[in-house]
Amino acid sequence: MHDEPIDPFNGDPVDPSAGLDDLTDGDNQDPLTEAERQDVLEDLADLEIYQALLGPIGVRGLVIECEDCHEPHYFDWDLLRGNLRHLLSSGRPRVHEPAYDPDPDHYVTWEYARGYADGVHDTLTEGTDDNE
Ligand SMILES: [Zn+2]
Repeated sequence: MHDEPIDPFNGDPVDPSAGLDDLTDGDNQDPLTEAERQDVLEDLADLEIYQALLGPIGVRGLVIECEDCHEPHYFDWDLLRGNLRHLLSSGRPRVHEPAYDPDPDHYVTWEYARGYADGVHDTLTEGTDDNE
């Protein structure tokens, strides 16, 4: 016959170490939720791929329809990366500062870049499939 070891703190109504850090809300809020951070990190990773694929064929960045002014804004790769990093560190998007005097021919949408990357991926996959 065994007695279970008794947890000395079991049932103790006051744990002196609990709750001290949780009560100071307000100042130290994490600016982004974990899900939002994840989204930004994924965008950054996508951006690397898109630049690697599209940069060599002359694409300089992405065009994004602005929700504020309802006009397309043109962002260079570096600018996009800077904006996303700024969002990660500060939790708020930078005031939009699109590339000046852009040539629209050299910018594509996220959707186009994503489709292009998928197409390249499919081509590569097909190429390696038929050596059985
Ligand atoms: Zn705008």
